[in-house]
Amino acid sequence: MTASLVKGTDKNMQEFTAIAQFFTHPTLRSDTLLGVGDDGALCQADSQQMLVISTDLLVVHQHFFPDADPYLLGQKALAVNLSDMAAMGASPAWVTLGIALPHIDSEWLSAFSQGFGRCAKKYQVDWVGGDTTRGELTLAVQIIGQVPQGEALRRDAAQIGDDIWVSGCLGEAALGLQVLLNKIALDDPEHTRCLQRLHTPTPRLALGMALRNIAHACIDISDGLLADLQHICDASSCGARLEWDAIPKPNIPYIALNALQTAVLAGGEDYELCFTAPYAAREKLIQLSQTLDLPLSRIGHTHAGQNITLLDTKQRPFNIKETGYDHFRTR
Ligand code: ADP
Ligand code: MG
Repeated sequence: MTASLVKGTDKNMQEFTAIAQFFTHPTLRSDTLLGVGDDGALCQADSQQMLVISTDLLVVHQHFFPDADPYLLGQKALAVNLSDMAAMGASPAWVTLGIALPHIDSEWLSAFSQGFGRCAKKYQVDWVGGDTTRGELTLAVQIIGQVPQGEALRRDAAQIGDDIWVSGCLGEAALGLQVLLNKIALDDPEHTRCLQRLHTPTPRLALGMALRNIAHACIDISDGLLADLQHICDASSCGARLEWDAIPKPNIPYIALNALQTAVLAGGEDYELCFTAPYAAREKLIQLSQTLDLPLSRIGHTHAGQNITLLDTKQRPFNIKETGYDHFRTR
């Protein structure tokens, strides 16, 4: 038993009532044998597949504002973990939620658990357990998925000369954050679109699974394109060359080029996939883009060097100051 949320003789009441009321859902999957309610959940792993396990911590002030909409927060807490499954080429199956709360606020918890629960249902993931305690608002989400043996998409699998691709459009979530911080002002429809991209990221699960036999390396863009592509380069011992013109970005003529470049190249939270694939996969990827109705853009290639080089419209190398989010960096 962990520290409970209230003191006194009924000290466990609120914790158990909250678990029963907000965190107990019927299970959906036939491979979930036992969900919330016992000391552990029972899940039937597929013997032909690898388990893929990933955890994310979200801490108030660090990852979200204290007044964040609880429904959207619940949805996003799960969506960002699903994005890690997408990046591994995995099919998500089970999730647990550890939550620390300063106090029990039924209205907040109800909205939060609806956001989390609906997202789980949408992607056929069973919410099989967790832990609930008092503390500064913190969310720890652990997700478990499966991928056929040998088919996981790893950061260390890029090959020299691969094309580099990204899904969707980059930079909108970062611009949405700039709007919330009152650093920029956008007009509609960009205003609504960028905030929506920040609050409700879409995990690219169908893409990740479709890339299993096509892509070499893959990562989801949570900290910014340059920072995340650098992880692929480091793990795969290669460099990269990117063409600014080829990178999919919002068309907002009234914002400064350097603000746009920072958002597109170093702004996090897009949760698009960045992956490398051989030349021979181009045709398949164009078809896949149509099948999934999701833009896939070829933005550059890997090479035998070490660094990431950016080329502007006139093919001249350029740099930006920011390269991506690092929680421990001192500014
Ligand atoms: P224990 O004391 O054995 O650790 P708890 O009292 O913490 O069990 O939890 C009781 C049950 O409620 C467990 O099955 C646990 O997985 C589940 N649970 C607790 N908190 C959450 C949560 N935030 N989300 C989902 N399930 C939860
Ligand atoms: Mg417990």
